[in-house]
Amino acid sequence: MFTLKPQTSEEGCSTGCCTPQPRGKEACPGCGAETKGVLDKTLSHLLTDAAKASLSCLDGFHYCKTPSCEIVYFRVDETLTQDDLTVTVGLKEGASPATVCYCFDWTKEKIAEEIARTGKTTALEDIKAKMENPGCSCETLNPSGACCLGDVGKVIKEIETTF
Ligand SMILES: [Zn+2]
Repeated sequence: MFTLKPQTSEEGCSTGCCTPQPRGKEACPGCGAETKGVLDKTLSHLLTDAAKASLSCLDGFHYCKTPSCEIVYFRVDETLTQDDLTVTVGLKEGASPATVCYCFDWTKEKIAEEIARTGKTTALEDIKAKMENPGCSCETLNPSGACCLGDVGKVIKEIETTF
């Protein structure tokens, strides 16, 4: 049986919220994109029990966020997809709900609805305010294991161009 490691509360990353991710980039075997490593605690929170049972350990995985690529995590000769996760990977094509901020539950749908209704979105302000208080848990809630702000900013721009 897999046991969760105790959570640590180390000092944050460059944006002040997360433990630094493992260094070193690797090319995704599915799409060739450069990918960043993820911490084992990210996977331990987000993988299904079946996926965890099939792996010897959770070290050394990288995360692919290419929308058209079905690989979510990979390491030397193992790959994991949406089916192996308990949350929807919002940046992947066809994801529903298309969650972009897992800590405070912002989805592409919610941002688009807000822009349609009010002409703008408060997503970034809301996320930044809540990062201060109560604080975020990207490293165990977000499939990327990292702060969502960059992704949210891109998503807002994408959505705004469709209006
Ligand atoms: Zn990929």
